[in-house]
Amino acid sequence: MLDPFGEGARRIIEGEFGGVEELLKVIPSYTGLDEVLERIKWLESGEVPEEVLEVDDVRDLLTFYALLGALAFSPYGLEMELVKEASVRLYSLRIEKSGALAEEVHGIERASESEIPRRDRTILERTNYRELSEEEKRRLKLAYKVHLSRFLPLWDGSLKEVYIRGGYAYLTMEDALKLWKRSFERNFERAVNLLYEVRDELPNFYRELYERLGQLAREHFKEKIKKLGNAKAGPLRFDLFPPCVKIALGGVPSGLRNYAITVLLTSFLSYARLCPNPPRRDVRVKDCVESLDVLEKEILPIIIEAGNRCKPPLFEDQPHEIKNIWYHLGFGLTDKPTLEDSGNSTWYFPPNCSKIRANAPELCKPDRDCRNIKNPLTYYLRKLYLESRRGNQGEEQDGSEGAEVTGDE
Ligand code: SF4
Repeated sequence: MLDPFGEGARRIIEGEFGGVEELLKVIPSYTGLDEVLERIKWLESGEVPEEVLEVDDVRDLLTFYALLGALAFSPYGLEMELVKEASVRLYSLRIEKSGALAEEVHGIERASESEIPRRDRTILERTNYRELSEEEKRRLKLAYKVHLSRFLPLWDGSLKEVYIRGGYAYLTMEDALKLWKRSFERNFERAVNLLYEVRDELPNFYRELYERLGQLAREHFKEKIKKLGNAKAGPLRFDLFPPCVKIALGGVPSGLRNYAITVLLTSFLSYARLCPNPPRRDVRVKDCVESLDVLEKEILPIIIEAGNRCKPPLFEDQPHEIKNIWYHLGFGLTDKPTLEDSGNSTWYFPPNCSKIRANAPELCKPDRDCRNIKNPLTYYLRKLYLESRRGNQGEEQDGSEGAEVTGDE
């Protein structure tokens, strides 16, 4: 079995296709939407069809990366949850079936007999317990090891549960699998984040795939959707904003004001509130809302207050800047817009982190959640997603019903 984030997969993607972006361009000529969706559809029955389970390595890689390409259109949506759940279950099943991690992935290596003193092995693996079945002996065997530098960021259990020696944590198959899952989920998110940047260059195949995935996700998570309502747009969660947006909200000095308020804050707040997962880049406000109420009564006051906190206050100094705000919201240069005006100019999308760092480095003070993030909006979507996942897990622990969510971050 080839791990899609392992060394073997990397060699194929780089060596034979010239990189992930190149691979995504050629995937539609190798596979079709139906074949890709077969990787997901079995979730309803829970039975993985033989042809999906046993598919050859390269086809597996192509269909998996096809799904990643589709998710670039909506990172942290239900579609991502669905694909992640199906992928973790599919790869876990293959690992369990083969009885081992097939290659060294995520730094998880095979441990040799001689690395652990016999006395320790006897205690930990209970090698003197004659009554243990072969199956139980296999379960207790410390067959894997992983360097602590890779282990600690992923492990959320107690260190007392783990045998540590010479800078390595030694793991049973069950623990190695647990670690693999966490690492897989992180790599999965990282890949979707990276592809988010190039989504406009992807062939139409991926948009169609994304739409088909959306139908499956709505069906699969219908209980969750019923409970949460439409999670696509909702009240703003200021506590989950990225550092750059929080700095802009607090008011900034004169050299930064126009960029922080008109470019970053206006785009970020409007997309985050009205259309967090825009279906396409040229979306208009009127595609997302039926009136200007939220924009006028909720978003604009936040922008104006942030402008007033600047030194000197932005809109006192430059009253015409309000027209520029509407312009960036896609209504053209006006201070009295109607919904119908939306589309008169482009509704500016939040700039990528690299642009913010280049144009207004003082705004970018990354925190640990900024790792692997390419755009402030995906930072926010990721935090919302993690929050909702924590909420679901809490409810499940309380015994209430909820959609099953894979993973334990
Ligand atoms: S890394 Fe990106 S999201 Fe984080 S503070 Fe910098 S610009 Fe904002």
